Amino acid sequence: MSTSGAFDFPPATLPDGAARLRGDVRAFIAASSVTDGWQPRSNFMSSFSAEFSRALGQQGWLGLTWPKAYGGQERSALERFVVTEELLAAGAPVAAHWVAERQSGPLLLRYGTEAQKQLLLPGIAAGETYFSIGMSEPDSGSDLASIRTRAERTDNGWSITGTKVWTSNAHVNQWMILLARTAPQSKDRHAGLSQFLVDLKNDAITVNPIHNMLGHHEFNEVVLDETLIPADRLIGEEGQGWHQVTAELAYERSGPERFLSTYRVLFELVQGQQSNADAAGKRAIGKLAARLMALRTMSLSIAGMLERGENPDLAAAVIKDAGNTFEREVVEVARQVMPLEPAREAGNVGTYETLMAEMMLQLPSYTLRGGTPEIMRSIIARGLGVR
Ligand SMILES: Cc1cc2nc3c(=O)[nH]c(=O)nc-3n(C[C@H](O)[C@H](O)[C@H](O)COP(=O)(O)OP(=O)(O)OC[C@H]3O[C@@H](n4cnc5c(N)ncnc54)[C@H](O)[C@@H]3O)c2cc1C
Repeated sequence: MSTSGAFDFPPATLPDGAARLRGDVRAFIAASSVTDGWQPRSNFMSSFSAEFSRALGQQGWLGLTWPKAYGGQERSALERFVVTEELLAAGAPVAAHWVAERQSGPLLLRYGTEAQKQLLLPGIAAGETYFSIGMSEPDSGSDLASIRTRAERTDNGWSITGTKVWTSNAHVNQWMILLARTAPQSKDRHAGLSQFLVDLKNDAITVNPIHNMLGHHEFNEVVLDETLIPADRLIGEEGQGWHQVTAELAYERSGPERFLSTYRVLFELVQGQQSNADAAGKRAIGKLAARLMALRTMSLSIAGMLERGENPDLAAAVIKDAGNTFEREVVEVARQVMPLEPAREAGNVGTYETLMAEMMLQLPSYTLRGGTPEIMRSIIARGLGVR
């Protein structure tokens, strides 16, 4: 497997049929928003709808690139990109299936056993099986290799003890992929880590809610205290957890959700400016639109890398960092150009005022989730050989 350079973004062209797929997805979203009455939300993780995810699964739009034997459609990563960007641009309620389809499924496809694939992938593709990410711990976020959760072998499997934190949707999802230490920390800090499947509904764990700045319950603390799991829950090879988790993070960081979480605000800005012309404002919005196109081209290029089986970890770090910077600037320009009072209590979810109010409270988290700017930049620096 080759690793593409951090600034090497070869152009990718959407395949035949992508335009038709885009039209189908748009029509589905428009119809679903009317029948199910959902309003566009800025943040892809803020609206959990099992109904919507199931409906997408029925269309065959989840696990689009996976083998048909596991519920997939054997279509290209570029077509998946089209589905993904349409869902994000519409602010659709995608939180239920998002993590499972984006990274847990691909991880299992690559490293899981045949039995794990058969057990879990069809449910993800059907929009019915949802996953959490069990990486961060109270004292280990950026420095993931310092995690202290440990898994020890028992006669029948593993006993796991430790605390995970910021675990999005662990209170509603069925599964979590947990990173644990299976050998004491050594000189090689990345050695001795392994990944496990934790059954969030049936294993002996405690899930404690953590409320975010909006007052919403999305995060959790997940406590494992000598929690017993069977041997067949190990994912991949014992001790190869770091290598596996790095591959997983590339999926997590590279998608269009890293620059489209403020898209609805930008959209409203463009609409607003049509009637309220102001030269400086238009220039600022025009610059944002140009940057959005550049980011989209880069992200599409990463979909092309995934399609060719390349590892886009460096490019993913570039997109994550540049995308988060862009999202911040969208909100800053919005505050200057369209200075309407953000109003959470207006009762009109999806209006510019409520979008902005939510955005102010969520924006700080966008750079944290999936890895902070400092960490992205240190990955890029290392990739460029300057660190
Ligand atoms: C909305 C949201 C959802 C999340 N969901 C999940 C989830 O589902 N599962 C999960 O496992 N985690 C999740 N996280 C956690 C997320 O991955 C961590 O917050 C992130 O990795 C940062 O870790 P930390 O919070 O411990 O901060 P720290 O690592 O303590 O960092 C604090 C500050 O120090 C800086 N810093 C740290 N180390 C260095 C360094 N070496 N050089 C320079 N600066 C440094 C950081 O950039 C940051 O600014 C989520 C976070 C958010 C905000």
